Formats: sequence, C-alpha cells, structure tokens
Amino acid sequence: MNCNLCPHECNAMREQTSFGFCRSHWLPGIASICIHKGEEPVISGEKGIVNVFFTHCNLQCTYCQNRQISNNKISDELSLISIENAVDEIIKLLTPDISLIGFVSPSHHIDAMEKIVYGLHQKGFYPRVVYNSNGYDKISTLKRIENIVDIYLPDYKYADSDLGFELSKVIEYPLIALKALKEMYRQKGSALITDDNGYAISGMIIRHLVLPGYLDNTMQILENIAWEISTGVHLSLMSQYNPQFYHGSNPNLLRKVSQEEYDSAIAFKESLGIYKGWTQELVSNDFYNPDFTLDHPFESSST
Ligand code: SF4
Repeated sequence: MNCNLCPHECNAMREQTSFGFCRSHWLPGIASICIHKGEEPVISGEKGIVNVFFTHCNLQCTYCQNRQISNNKISDELSLISIENAVDEIIKLLTPDISLIGFVSPSHHIDAMEKIVYGLHQKGFYPRVVYNSNGYDKISTLKRIENIVDIYLPDYKYADSDLGFELSKVIEYPLIALKALKEMYRQKGSALITDDNGYAISGMIIRHLVLPGYLDNTMQILENIAWEISTGVHLSLMSQYNPQFYHGSNPNLLRKVSQEEYDSAIAFKESLGIYKGWTQELVSNDFYNPDFTLDHPFESSST
C-alpha cells in the first residue's frame, strides 16, 4: 500500500527504500506518551490529557517547539513502537479522572491512530479522542476518521501561501487548511459539548499562533474563520511564539510577539464577533518548552 494520506500525496511505500515528505515508516514513531497539562481548560483541565506525540511531521515549521521530534531528518528507528505496546502504554496512564487522549501531529499516522483507538476499545477503554493537527489535512482522510474523533483541535497557521512555504515548507497551506477546517466544522459544528467536570466531549477548537511581525496574516485568518467557517466556533488565540526554537533568518521571527500586536489581534477577533474560546498571557511563551529527551517532556516547563 502506497501512502497518500495527507495533502502531499507522495504515493510513497514508507519503507526503507521509499519514504515520502514525512519520512515516516508505517509503524508509528512515538516520541512520548505522557500526561500533559496546561492546554485549553476543556482539553486538559487540572487532571491533564494523555497525549501521544508522534515523531516527524507533514509540515516542517522553522519555529516548531517540538523540533526535537518533528524534524523529518531524525531517524525514527528508536521511536518505532508496535500498536500493542502503544496501547499498553496509554492504558497505564488512563485513570477514571482522565477522559481524553490526544494524538499530536497525527496527519501522517492516521493508520496507527485508528489501530491504537481500536486496540483501546478491544481492551475495554473508550477515552474521547482529540485530533490535534497542524491543519494540513486531506478531506478524504478526515471523512475516514469521522467516527473515531470526538474533538478536533487543528492549527490554522497561514492565510498567505508564500509565508506557509517560507516557514513550513508546504505549498498552498491556506487553501488546504481552510478546506480541512470546513470539513471538521461540517462534522462537529460550533457546539463544544462538555461533561459535568468541564471536559470536552465533542466539538472543535481552532488554534492560531500569532507570529511576530505578521499581524496581517493573523487578521486574514480571523476574517476567514468569521466569514468562511463561523463566528460561533471556539478559537484559541495563542501568544506563545518563542524565538528560541526558530532556526531561520527572517528577522521578524527573532523576537516574541509584542503586547501591542497581541492586543490588536484580540480586538480584531472581537470586532468580527468571535468571542468563544481562549487567549493567553503574553508570558506564556516562557512556559511551553518541552524537552523530549526527558521521560516527561514538559516537566521542566511550568505546564
Ligand atoms: S503521510 Fe507522509 S508519505 Fe503519506 S502523503 Fe503525507 S507526507 Fe507523504
């Protein structure tokens, strides 16, 4: 079976002799399975979510905070894991208090994600599934996972194709991501349904990271959400861009987002009628600094 899972459509065999853009084997490369706190309150709350961090990615963002594991040049031999072992590792972390499992950067590991979810079901575990992607997803693949995903948590990064190519090495991100988000919205709508403890049961939350020097991009993103998707959708507007992870030469990206830029983004989204969701404190860019060489990648950060 050749791989055309994501919009790259590499038709790759995903074996030693033929890898696609993501350079991933069919077996899942998993850098970490851990309890993660500090995300949106309906996702992780005080108890946390069991997150599965896949290695490699179908984008190559030059400022990725997970670059240790998302870089497609790294070998995945050490992180390849069987579905059975992944299921067992997840079960060790699932407690009655933790109702959600998040698949982080899953777009190139949809097959593995499906098998892990079915493996959990076979062992009597039915956590709600969060699909935490970069937004570079294919419609047919999203339709395929419609019945196993409970909450979509996609990024919406760029409204400018040139910016997407410069910073994430992909073409036509704006067009592809907007179509993908519309499909997710078709499946889930605006309602974010929560349980008695305030954790998400079903819905969609769009994340957008404000980039320093690119307020125009943010404003176009916000207009697209308001006009092409819905003002009723939940938006997580993020200020946590951290230049320490950037490895390019664009001078705009060598600093953090300013308070003025972030305040302007918040004011603009509200002027469009987007009120549901979350914003961050500007100091949040000091808090989200995972180290995937540790057993728990986030234990050195404040989250
Ligand atoms: S998942 Fe990987 S191999 Fe498959 S189409 Fe996407 S980038 Fe190519």
